[in-house]
Amino acid sequence: MAAAAGPEARGAALYDTHVHLADAAYGPALGAVLAGMGALDIAAACVSTTAADSALAVRLAARHARVLAFAGVHPDAAGGGTAAIRRLVEAGGVSGIGEVGLDPTVTDGAGYARQRAEFGELLEIAERHGLPVSVHSRKSADDVMDMLSSHGVRAALHWFDGNRRQLARAMDMGAYVAFGPVSVYAADKRSLIARADPSLVLAETDGPVRFSRCFAGMPAQPCHVPSVVLCMARSRRVAYGEMREALAANSRRWLGI
Ligand SMILES: [Zn+2]
Repeated sequence: MAAAAGPEARGAALYDTHVHLADAAYGPALGAVLAGMGALDIAAACVSTTAADSALAVRLAARHARVLAFAGVHPDAAGGGTAAIRRLVEAGGVSGIGEVGLDPTVTDGAGYARQRAEFGELLEIAERHGLPVSVHSRKSADDVMDMLSSHGVRAALHWFDGNRRQLARAMDMGAYVAFGPVSVYAADKRSLIARADPSLVLAETDGPVRFSRCFAGMPAQPCHVPSVVLCMARSRRVAYGEMREALAANSRRWLGI
């Protein structure tokens, strides 16, 4: 059963579709991060990397109406099984599945075959409960899309890092593609944003990842979303307000709220 989203999440002006708000790196700054979301009218999909992290996300979402809990096991952490995620989803309070996916660059984990098995199980949970999925596809976009094609889920390829062919494939299969702070200073990302189906683009920050250049190495947070929206608006040659409204509509459709 999916958690019911309240009016603060359903009617937000802006959406951070991938941020690790339960990450300990935010520490005592989390209160200010959440207050900033309120001030800028931002709702966030709080993604998780382990079962313990997922339980923290559910607790955070229960206390903050702008936070939607996503439960998942990151490919870095594959090998522990998916039973705890299944139990969390069945208990309610979960709005999506993520961060899940495949990453062949992880060499010290349980191996790619194990990642594939667990990703498949998590996609089945998402499909059964009608939940959106935030997918990690570093160096694995084709393998991820092969697996997504056999599941009826609303998937978002978070931190989309594929090429033009892979972007076209994602668009053909109706998968969303999410772009974050890198697109503010990387021309190749802006060219992908300009080529994407405008109804399948999402904004994210992946906080607390630290971005360089204009972000000065500070931990990303939902308050950085307006910079991403402005960059997307310029890439697509539309007004900021038009881009913001399109992204909000896309985010709600992906989230199912
Ligand atoms: Zn992430």
